[in-house]
Amino acid sequence: MLIRAGDTVEVVTGADRGTRSRVIQIDRVAGKALVENVNRVYKHVRRSQKHPQGGRLSKEMPVQLSNVMFVCTSCGAKSRLGARFSDKGAKERFCKKCSAAVGEISPPHTGHAKK
Ligand SMILES: [Zn+2]
Repeated sequence: MLIRAGDTVEVVTGADRGTRSRVIQIDRVAGKALVENVNRVYKHVRRSQKHPQGGRLSKEMPVQLSNVMFVCTSCGAKSRLGARFSDKGAKERFCKKCSAAVGEISPPHTGHAKK
């Protein structure tokens, strides 16, 4: 799973299909992502100290990662991500459409550097 918080993704299925938005949070265990303004639901809340009137609260719910696709920062297309070693030996993510690097996963390691 190479999508990370802060990435832009496009929803490819469901009611919010076609929406491009930012990932707020990733739940690796559940395989879900919280995406800004996607999968908004109304949560009905009882009256309490915080909500003296009770009422309906609109908030995002996590969506399955298979329902979103990464949007490449350099080619703008939705694509899948790969992982590879850069010339410096750092592990990096790359766009499988245009093969541009989209951020390092781990710091350079001399053993993986290309001579
Ligand atoms: Zn790309």
